[in-house]
Amino acid sequence: MSTPEWEPPEDLVPPLDGEPPRSRPETALQALRSVWGYDSFRGQQAEVIDTVVAGGDAIVLMPTGGGKSLCYQVPALVRPGTGVVISPLIALMHDQVDALRLLGVRAAYLNSTQDPDERRQVERALLAGEVDLLYLAPERLTAAAALLDRCEISLFAIDEAHCVSQWGHDFRPDYLALSMIHERWPQVPRVALTATATTETRREIAERLALTEARLFVASFDRPNIQYRIVGKQDARAGLAQLIREEHPGAAGIVYCLSRASVEKTAEWLGSQGITALPYHAGLDAGTRSRHQARFLREDGVVMVATIAFGMGIDKPDVRFVAHLDLPKSVEGYYQETGRAGRDGLPSTAWLAYGLQDVVQQRRMIVEGEGDRQRKRVQSLHLDAMLALCETVQCRRQQLLAYFDEPSEPCGNCDTCLAPPATFDGTVPAQKLLSTIVRLQRERRQSYGAGQIVDILLGRDTERVRRFGHETLSTFGIGTELSEVQWRGVVRQLLAQGLLAVQGEYGVLTITDAAAEVLSGRRSVLLRQEQQQVRSRSARRSRSAPVDLDQPQQALFERLRAWRAETAKEQGVPAYVVFSDATLAGIAAAQPADQEALRGVSGVGEAKLERYGTAVLALVGAG
Ligand code: ADP
Ligand code: ZN
Repeated sequence: MSTPEWEPPEDLVPPLDGEPPRSRPETALQALRSVWGYDSFRGQQAEVIDTVVAGGDAIVLMPTGGGKSLCYQVPALVRPGTGVVISPLIALMHDQVDALRLLGVRAAYLNSTQDPDERRQVERALLAGEVDLLYLAPERLTAAAALLDRCEISLFAIDEAHCVSQWGHDFRPDYLALSMIHERWPQVPRVALTATATTETRREIAERLALTEARLFVASFDRPNIQYRIVGKQDARAGLAQLIREEHPGAAGIVYCLSRASVEKTAEWLGSQGITALPYHAGLDAGTRSRHQARFLREDGVVMVATIAFGMGIDKPDVRFVAHLDLPKSVEGYYQETGRAGRDGLPSTAWLAYGLQDVVQQRRMIVEGEGDRQRKRVQSLHLDAMLALCETVQCRRQQLLAYFDEPSEPCGNCDTCLAPPATFDGTVPAQKLLSTIVRLQRERRQSYGAGQIVDILLGRDTERVRRFGHETLSTFGIGTELSEVQWRGVVRQLLAQGLLAVQGEYGVLTITDAAAEVLSGRRSVLLRQEQQQVRSRSARRSRSAPVDLDQPQQALFERLRAWRAETAKEQGVPAYVVFSDATLAGIAAAQPADQEALRGVSGVGEAKLERYGTAVLALVGAG
């Protein structure tokens, strides 16, 4: 299936020069209601905003989708002057600014993608006091300092603040220079924001940005609308296609793969299944990458198949699922990647397929990879934690949140809560498996991967078994009570429980010290039955609305969506910038008869009411 390539049309945003003065909202709540069309603040937004409006500094740690943007956008409107937002995500600035302009906010950006003319235009508008929010790439700050000195600045927002952390994955050297903000503009409030939660990063942000006196806001990292599911990797592609077709047809999603080759193959395969899927990885040229990213952002229902090179700063709110076809390297990475689903708060799915081969492959990558012993040890610990999450019989969310030191109760919205896995006393199977490995090592000085061990346990007459005389081992054929799939499950769980380890470039299995206790019968082993897949929402929904709507509402939602696609294309903005799915669903459910009723729908502010009200009401009336 081929869709015509997206081409940027004429700029939506008119020149800044001569823009009418904006009437400043008096209170934060007033701004929220009239500009964004939202009823109330969420979580700690109100507190953060109050702090900054009053001139105080803040560090804000909120998960993706937590609503960080409003924490600086609202104060920038309420306080006099221009709010300066430092962001490393240059590729997204244009869309961010367009989105604000559609809300009636006078936004602009300065970065390296502009020609001198455009830049001069923004500078003129700034000096004339006609910019509410200025997005600035960190490397431009020094060059822009003299200009900013001549403007009234309402606040500095430092987005993706974890980029100052030299130990993190996203370190940007330019971020270190941001401490100058405090020295040069000591009286201007600053707010640093990030979705990265570790204590170490938090400390580095405070120190490097001279924010040790700032008020710290730490939100819950829970994302209750995301359903976490982890399944065994048997026919992962079929599982993925089923997830897309039955639960999220026509919806946007991200599929993460470990290698460039598997990205390409998976995208191609999904395409052959009639699903609009595009590849994204660092091996593609920059033009292709940005075209694919633009289509993902702008069109409805594009599935991006990507390596983890894709995703930072992608603030598309209606990503309905994030699927992993390979095991992520760490729980932190997994949480950040899955967090890109459901920023709009609507039901979404995080789906991961993982198998034994993943563990073997990743151990090998760690062993063969760069880095000293300390780094490899850390990587191993990360992998162990990820493995433990995959094999847990407890609530996935509870375990995830515990990883970020946040206590919680079983969630009721993950696979282990929805279909609690049956457990059984696996001491005897564990002993059979462990002793097979021990015998091979002690009696034959041989080590093997899982495949051969399982063949021995099942008593299979293979060429390899005969070549090495494994049919004469005393454990040969003693494991016929379990199937191959079940034995592989046992291996994975023993790995997760630290009773087995994978070693060397061939991924051979060895026993750990702890396994001795199992072999001697001093320790018993609880194992999980292999899971049936959970598909909780499939029965309820086979259409594209992410919430439950009745038939006529559903039809209206589809009409609104088609109109939105058209409108977004005409104006050269991402579809969600026109209205989010949540807002379209709200309109479909409320069926507003006039402007006043439309104004009452969450996400319909004054500027959008004026711009789109008539068209939307006509669609509602046409039903
Ligand atoms: P973050 O930057 O923390 O990932 P965003 O600022 O992009 O999150 O917000 C996520 C989504 O939630 C956006 O679509 C935003 O418009 C919406 N949102 C934020 N705050 C509110 C609120 N108070 N009421 C309704 N929707 C909100
Ligand atoms: Zn749960």
